[in-house]
Amino acid sequence: MRDENLNSWEARADAHSMYGFTDLPTIENRGATILTHGDGPYVYDVHGKKYLDGNSGLWNMVAGFNHKGLAEAAKAQYDRFPGYHAFFGRMSDQTVILSEKLIEVSPFESGKVFYTNSGSEANDTLVKMLWFMNKAEGNPQKRKIITRINGYHGVTAVSASMTAKPYNEVFGLPLDGFIHTDCPHYWRFGQDGESESDFTLRLARNLEALIVSEGPETIAALVAEPVMGAGGVIPPSKGYFQAIHPILKKYNIALIADEVICGFGRTGPIWGCQAYDFMPDAIISSKNLTAGYFPMGAVILGPNLANKIQMAAESVEEFPHGFTASGHPVGCAIALKAINVILNEGLIENVQALTPKFEQGLAELAKNPYIGEARSKGLMGALEAVMDKDTKTPFGPEANVSEKIANTCSDFGLICRPLGQAIVLCPAFVMTEGQMNEMFEKLTQALTKVFSEIT
Ligand SMILES: *Cc1c(COP(=O)(O)O)cnc(C)c1O
Repeated sequence: MRDENLNSWEARADAHSMYGFTDLPTIENRGATILTHGDGPYVYDVHGKKYLDGNSGLWNMVAGFNHKGLAEAAKAQYDRFPGYHAFFGRMSDQTVILSEKLIEVSPFESGKVFYTNSGSEANDTLVKMLWFMNKAEGNPQKRKIITRINGYHGVTAVSASMTAKPYNEVFGLPLDGFIHTDCPHYWRFGQDGESESDFTLRLARNLEALIVSEGPETIAALVAEPVMGAGGVIPPSKGYFQAIHPILKKYNIALIADEVICGFGRTGPIWGCQAYDFMPDAIISSKNLTAGYFPMGAVILGPNLANKIQMAAESVEEFPHGFTASGHPVGCAIALKAINVILNEGLIENVQALTPKFEQGLAELAKNPYIGEARSKGLMGALEAVMDKDTKTPFGPEANVSEKIANTCSDFGLICRPLGQAIVLCPAFVMTEGQMNEMFEKLTQALTKVFSEIT
């Protein structure tokens, strides 16, 4: 499998490139996959092998890997004005236009946008904004941030503290003041005999108890993905946001939608909060914002937070925060093009049109005795492997089941992602029906092979 030649791409990657979020025993056995280019939803490696990328890169390459219009928008802006910052009262024209566009397509009637280079930085920025605002309003103790177990919000020190996954323990995280509440995954965490509605109510009651025990006056916000992405594609239980939002309002705690994955059509409508019918106080965006063609994130503030943060800034004559490349003109030009491509070139319609076929493909695979749950919203989905379907007993960690499935898929020319014991799929918005058939055929082959070997 692995090319052992010392000059091989695999050996060269090992020598000087550090792997993040990568299973090192897999690298040891198989070598890294080094990619050169792409075409639609396909990518090609240095050996010329073609893969259907069932994950749109990392959820983000929704317009495919060779969208001409996006590359041309980038080139045109590089030719016109290749870089500028957004400090000291200056910013590029593209930045102004993108902010107008983002507010126009947001669920907010008005608001303001702040730019970052990534989703992690957007979450960090949001937290600093809330700390800044609450302090200016005379509530310096109102700083704690609540997120949900299995929620993913990034990797910087603050956003990793918000990410409630056990792997962050190796960094000694979370930092103080970042608290984690229940994961709204009914299939996994519902109790015997508990209905889905009762499960939702129990989580809402737990949240209120947590708020009261921590002290509501010390809590700034709850940050939540409409559908948890890197937690394993977990749609909320029925009525979840309707159950928790009134509690947050009662204690004057902001609700922030981390739409880094859900935003710009992944769940069907433009925003995940629209798919679940709630109105957050702010939206965190990244990934699809530029269709993956530029590193960029944005904090999109609704009217209330925008006004309050503006007032706080006026009180000290400045909001002392910003990244060198915040509002980068090329990133903004690409984002403007990406939004236009997603909303006006049939991509979001294709998500909606392909969703029933996607759900059907997942449901078909869920008939497998070793698939415990198929779950999805729009074009994000997951299949949860189990050793025993009735008791929902997972495979032992030594079975390495999802890693094996992903590796076998890769042998068959399909990229999909192992997450815990689940396999995640999130196809590009440009995927055709034929390519979706190919994706499910390859996954079916891989599941059959792996389950026959390990059971
Ligand atoms: C990917 C992701 C982030 C972090 O974005 P980066 O650009 O990787 O820093 C934050 N929130 C969610 C929901 C994500 O999926």
